Amino acid sequence: MNAPNDTRFLTQLYIDGRWVDGALGHTIAVVNPATGTHLTDVAAGTAHDVELAVAGAARAFRAWQQTTGTERAGYLRAIAAEVEMRRERLAMLQSLNNGKPQAEAHMDVDDVIATFRYYAQLAEQLDDTSGAEVSISSTEHRARILREPCGVAALIVPWNFPMVTTAWKLAPALAAGCTVVLKPSEITPLPELELASAIASVGLPAGVFNAVTGTGADVGAPLVAHPGVAKVSFTGSTGVGQTVMKTATDTLKGVSLELGGKSSIIVFDDADLDLAVDLAEAGGFFNSGQMCSATSRVLVARELAPALLARLVERAERIVVGDPFAPDVQMGPLVSRAQFDRVRGHIEQGIADGARLVTGGDRPAGAPEQGFFIAPTIFTDVPPTSALWRDEIFGPVLCVRVFDTEEEAIELANDSEYGLVATVVTDDEARGERVARALAAGVVWVNTPQLIYPQTSWGGYKRSSIGRELGPFGLAAFQEIKQVLTRRQAN
Ligand code: NAD
Repeated sequence: MNAPNDTRFLTQLYIDGRWVDGALGHTIAVVNPATGTHLTDVAAGTAHDVELAVAGAARAFRAWQQTTGTERAGYLRAIAAEVEMRRERLAMLQSLNNGKPQAEAHMDVDDVIATFRYYAQLAEQLDDTSGAEVSISSTEHRARILREPCGVAALIVPWNFPMVTTAWKLAPALAAGCTVVLKPSEITPLPELELASAIASVGLPAGVFNAVTGTGADVGAPLVAHPGVAKVSFTGSTGVGQTVMKTATDTLKGVSLELGGKSSIIVFDDADLDLAVDLAEAGGFFNSGQMCSATSRVLVARELAPALLARLVERAERIVVGDPFAPDVQMGPLVSRAQFDRVRGHIEQGIADGARLVTGGDRPAGAPEQGFFIAPTIFTDVPPTSALWRDEIFGPVLCVRVFDTEEEAIELANDSEYGLVATVVTDDEARGERVARALAAGVVWVNTPQLIYPQTSWGGYKRSSIGRELGPFGLAAFQEIKQVLTRRQAN
């Protein structure tokens, strides 16, 4: 393994401007998924730490909410610059703890930088846009709409894109003028704590940013239930998202949820085959398929199906799986033993349900024995009632299915309780537009890779999301709207 022999990990909680151990002294083991070895133990927070963090954030909110957007933009730009300076270290920790190849880890860090820079701009604009006058049907009154921060925000994130899902919440929350308590995934705290250290280094007032690592039960649940938290922004599984929403009803706080997906790539008969193979491969195997946006259903026009399947299988079998630090490696391990077991379970169940395994399905030959590796896997003839077709697998598993008409393709793609994303591959521009509009998904990529620009939007239909991240929508998620109506002074 080429992993750096570096053990200078941050392992404490960051509460009210200080690095501290958890109040009860509990810890959680952090594992390298490529080797199965123990990396370090980090502090595992509890409700006591949540209490301290929320109290600190609430104290800090009084002054932070009064800062101008321009002042907050200064901090956001400083964070972006600090992350840029630490790019290599953050990417190293991302690969070490999550298992993604270095190239993907660097993309993640660059996304964080771009997100902070974008929300710095929006924070600045707020100084002009918040409080702007609204045109009304009265000469006697003057109406203005103020956009104010909603209060202390709890940000709860998963392990598949550490730092990225965090930045998508953190940058707009701080830009809006909220103070925050971040709860990273207990599986990938190392890059998140390094990001926390980058944020801590820019001189934010104590309490504006807090990070409490620990389990969902010990940190996430008390955060969501806390009456001092005004808003919960959660990214994770649909099941936990439902629990978060239920708990939030007790205190009637706002929730934004980014949850699971079961998305399709639709390849029409006029598609550029090379492009279709590239997009299907990336949609299924990037980040070892551990993407909410994985296009794990490959829907292909009957005429093109034999050629596409043959090319896709050939490509999947050529993917170099292994040490995320090796320069030629294209796919790393799954993030944990539990995730490995879960995905293997889905594969076995799929076979038992009658799906035809075309390639992969198990550990790739030559992959390190103790790592959590699964070879790129492709199925055909997957029964539409099987879990393999309907559930989010969250591993490198594609299910290929043939369609005969545009209507059938749309119906197959929309036949899911999720509605996060979709990809359409066609040479016919009008068809691309028509199908994009017909799909019940929050993002549709037509002939493009899964690029996500911070200026746009993120989130889906149905059980994939409540609300949207990124763009102005991401900022609005942390704002209250206040109308101020005044009588015009007679001159
Ligand atoms: P998860 O739901 O198990 O955990 C997510 C976070 O919630 C973790 O920090 C966890 O500790 C915390 N948590 C667990 N129980 C909690 C509780 N009762 N109260 C509050 N917090 C709790 O998800 P995961 O396994 O870490 O991540 C994978 C899932 O995330 C997949 O379903 C994936 O689709 C989803 N995801 C969605 C998006 C999106 O943008 N839609 C992006 C990335 C991941």
